[in-house]
Amino acid sequence: MRRLIPLLLAFVFCALLLIPQAKSFARKPAPTAASSKANQLLVKFKRQARPPRGSAQITRELLPDVALDAASLDAEGDSGAYVVQLDGSISVAEAITRAQSDSRIEYAEPNRLIEPHDTVPNDLLFNQQWSLFNQGVDIGATRAWDLTTGSDDVVIAITDTGVDINHSDLAANIWTNPAEISNNGIDDDNNGFIDDVNGWNFQGNNKQVFSDAATDRHGTFVSGIIGAVGNNGIGVSGVAWRVKLMPLKFIDRTGDTADAIRAINYAIAQKRKGVNVRAINASWGPGRSECADSFSRSLRDAISAANDAGILFVCSAGNGVCGENGFGDNLDDAPEYPAAWAGELPNVISVGAVARTDDLLFFSNYGHTSVSLAAPGDGQVTSIFPGDGYTTWSPGGTSFAAPHVTGIAALLAVREPALTPTQVKQRLISTAEPILSLASKVVSSGRANAYNALINRVPPASTLGIGAVRTNKKFVYIDGLGFMQGAMTVEVNGVAIGKSRYDESYLLPNGSTTHIFVKLGKAGVRETFPQFQQVSVTVFNQQTGERSPVYRFTR
Ligand code: CA
Repeated sequence: MRRLIPLLLAFVFCALLLIPQAKSFARKPAPTAASSKANQLLVKFKRQARPPRGSAQITRELLPDVALDAASLDAEGDSGAYVVQLDGSISVAEAITRAQSDSRIEYAEPNRLIEPHDTVPNDLLFNQQWSLFNQGVDIGATRAWDLTTGSDDVVIAITDTGVDINHSDLAANIWTNPAEISNNGIDDDNNGFIDDVNGWNFQGNNKQVFSDAATDRHGTFVSGIIGAVGNNGIGVSGVAWRVKLMPLKFIDRTGDTADAIRAINYAIAQKRKGVNVRAINASWGPGRSECADSFSRSLRDAISAANDAGILFVCSAGNGVCGENGFGDNLDDAPEYPAAWAGELPNVISVGAVARTDDLLFFSNYGHTSVSLAAPGDGQVTSIFPGDGYTTWSPGGTSFAAPHVTGIAALLAVREPALTPTQVKQRLISTAEPILSLASKVVSSGRANAYNALINRVPPASTLGIGAVRTNKKFVYIDGLGFMQGAMTVEVNGVAIGKSRYDESYLLPNGSTTHIFVKLGKAGVRETFPQFQQVSVTVFNQQTGERSPVYRFTR
């Protein structure tokens, strides 16, 4: 045995060398032939030029000789959007050019790839961060449950991988299509989907919304956060104890934009038939090969149509996989879709992730205008796993922050069913609890709070605190909480400098602002912030006499 020990040690050492090192990701790689689904494009016909139903004719007329097939992205065929399969004899780019030259076409674009937001770029670094776990912060769910625990009348669509609809802690909260008879091989409700009793699998184009744990754990985990059955004596509880979850599977390991649109259109069609679909959860974003440009007009149009149908669209902000360093990216500067549409579409909310320490997860994307708020998403969020299991998903990510917000939206739909998606979005943002690590980083500068949302409580201005200091040649910028317009003085090493300026876009509903800046006069940045030398920064409220804790900053 003794002789074995050095051998074993040598083996362990060699094995350690084989552990993959932290990867770095190139910034926004240029699109390649491999990005977007091979030989497919999405086209949209102009409203006045909507083709008759019948994809064969579209194929023949639009791209003769090079298109094999075309299929509508909605079962009714009234959106005018189609996915076209090419035969490979010309490139997708050439086909787009050709389609766009047709006067009947509004636009044509690649069928981009989509990935669940479950992957993070750098777990080695991440695991070190998690030793910081020590205290609990939450979304105020227990107080919210004094007001409502949900309702069977509220339907939430889960666009994701599949969902284990037979999990004992979920089954009672799975939506059942009231107009479809199970397994009779007939499209009873005439919606274009045969036996769609519990949603649909858009990737396989069948009714099988669950295949196996490896494939469908992501959608199952997300579903459990929104609506694992509460107060049933087993396992975990969703944010909503009672709710109806509609699994719309369109991702396996990856998915594509055409199938995402089909899933969204399914939810819209059900809403129009009277099913009370209130929100769509979208814990996914561009595939890594699509980082350079993930904009899709077809997807944007489908999400807008969801707004017209009264459906909220809750996105995860993404996990920094598109940037170069594995840290979260600012979606204001480098937009990723659908999350970044939160800055312009009234029904889109995007959600960053915070840890139990109330720090923004270092790999969570953020954005002052394009990420709405944050919610818990660290590796200690516990939810369900296929096969009657439970798990914490380490390291976690924004995929699991978004469903917390979707769950709150489900509760809000019970308390105030008349709210429009725009109003729900506004409510969730204005009632989020501001926290220092989120100051100026998301629209609300705050973490979602269920109780506040249900009673429409806008958190009062926080005590003064500095979250971050930045300088450039002329200015010093300070982000934090509790800043009151017209009253703040910035002090460096105890000396008041300049006159504070304010930017309206950082104003919170409670009247405080999260962002101030001062122009440095004669004593410029070099003198005030000598390089490599630590200085103490405080902000002072001239009206109240309150002074922030000292923030130490090194340029
Ligand atoms: Ca049907």
